[in-house]
Amino acid sequence: MQVTETTFDINKIRADFPVLDQKVNGKQLVYFDNAATTQKPKAVIEAIKTYYEGYNANIHRGLHTLAEKATTAFEETRKTFQQFVNANEVEEIIFTKGTTDSINLVAHAYGRKFFKSGDEILISGMEHHSNIVPWQLLCEATGAQLKVIPVKEDGSISLADVEDLITDKTKLVSVVYASNSLGTINPVKEIAALAHKADAVMMVDGAQAASHCNVDVQDLDCDFFATSGHKMYGPTGTGILYGKRALLEAMTPYQGGGEMIKNVSFEETTYNDIPYKFEAGTPNIADIVALKEAADYISALGKDNIMVYEQELTKHAHQVMAEVPGIKFYGTAEEKVSVVSFTLETVHPYDVGMMLDAKGIAVRTGHHCTQPLMDHFGIEGTIRASFSVYNTKEEITQLAEGLKDIVSKFG
Ligand code: PLP
Repeated sequence: MQVTETTFDINKIRADFPVLDQKVNGKQLVYFDNAATTQKPKAVIEAIKTYYEGYNANIHRGLHTLAEKATTAFEETRKTFQQFVNANEVEEIIFTKGTTDSINLVAHAYGRKFFKSGDEILISGMEHHSNIVPWQLLCEATGAQLKVIPVKEDGSISLADVEDLITDKTKLVSVVYASNSLGTINPVKEIAALAHKADAVMMVDGAQAASHCNVDVQDLDCDFFATSGHKMYGPTGTGILYGKRALLEAMTPYQGGGEMIKNVSFEETTYNDIPYKFEAGTPNIADIVALKEAADYISALGKDNIMVYEQELTKHAHQVMAEVPGIKFYGTAEEKVSVVSFTLETVHPYDVGMMLDAKGIAVRTGHHCTQPLMDHFGIEGTIRASFSVYNTKEEITQLAEGLKDIVSKFG
């Protein structure tokens, strides 16, 4: 399928994102920091306003009209996400604060209950710190060991390495679906199959995948899937944890408090059913209600259309940016999302970031919360341009021209 800027109606899409229509440092804003957080469409912003102006109430607890309306809207988001990631049951969707929160939930509620000294946890060398540190904490607490799948020169990992590293001691494999630093899409379905062969559970860090890939947790056959609302056009402070029912039921609650109980007494407390067992306290109601709009926005554009369009942007970026003197790309694997990470031979990433900002272009510089990956490549950090549905080839060409200008002046 050929999706172009015209068939994708880029002008209409851009008009949906009010923040894009502004000047930064006297220049039209070019926003290429989407892997850090995406901008929000009007529908999401409006949903937050509508909730607070129309039916703000605490959920699940009140019988009055506003409480019922808020509860219904909140649970609608859960149903939407069941379909969005193709979970088998709506109860398998737990609301969290984000990917970090989701991974910590699994590390605590699953790992602390089931792991012991000598068990192994396998992650890859390109993980975000939030898919490293929770497991390190778990290892400290239980005596389990962390093992790491090496990253190849093109920023991919090999299934042969995964197979070699999985042993009968492996209890959990947790791998990022799409790398935030390199863009690499990992073969998580195949890794899940290898994990299951060894009776290990498979966790997928889907922080970047939800807005770029067609996520199907049943097809992947992963046991846990974590993602963040704010990286898929939704509000900050929202996230999802998908978990298979049997595992979620076997886990102890992550936090105690209201909502997660059936009955409390000083002698014995019984826990609520899933998903509420993992949703202690008053959640981020307004933002979770609005998160539905973000998922609907993606679905209306079409996940496949988004992938095709963003691939075109990425291809264009590699072409035009290759002309920048002294550029080196990190993450050149065939399968990748719209993240382009690079360094310039003669200018430090931080200086590049500041000089691009002066031109109205927002990119991210640094280690991108993947310090071990940067160490692996022997660098401090990269400059990262990450594209989204509202970006255009013209903007990317502008980035390439901006980089050439920087190199000519400061290189
Ligand atoms: N995993 C990946 C791959 C990410 O890119 C990020 C955020 O950049 C996270 C995890 C953490 O997400 P959050 O900060 O929304 O919890």
